[in-house]
Amino acid sequence: MSAEAVAVPRGWRSASPQHQTEFLRELHVDHVLFGRDAEVVAVCDGCDDVLVRTGEATWSRVHLTWSGKTERDARWPVVRHLAETWADALDDAERHAQDEHGD
Ligand SMILES: [Zn+2]
Repeated sequence: MSAEAVAVPRGWRSASPQHQTEFLRELHVDHVLFGRDAEVVAVCDGCDDVLVRTGEATWSRVHLTWSGKTERDARWPVVRHLAETWADALDDAERHAQDEHGD
């Protein structure tokens, strides 16, 4: 799958540079996504979850803490879902938005 195929899930919006900056700032050196060339591609409309693309084959739904600093614990920011396909990531993201923030 090419990066161009990626759309924004329902209930999400495109990420801003601030999200990328905060995401990278929070990552502990031992975090699973640290140093992985990860890019924040979408942001949940209802909470602080972001969708992170690592390369072209792995997707993570990560809950940012907005602490403004590197977390002291490698468990944070929490990875809430890990997907190896965009279809899985999209399904998870839209289900999250519906279940957590839906009408
Ligand atoms: Zn959310």
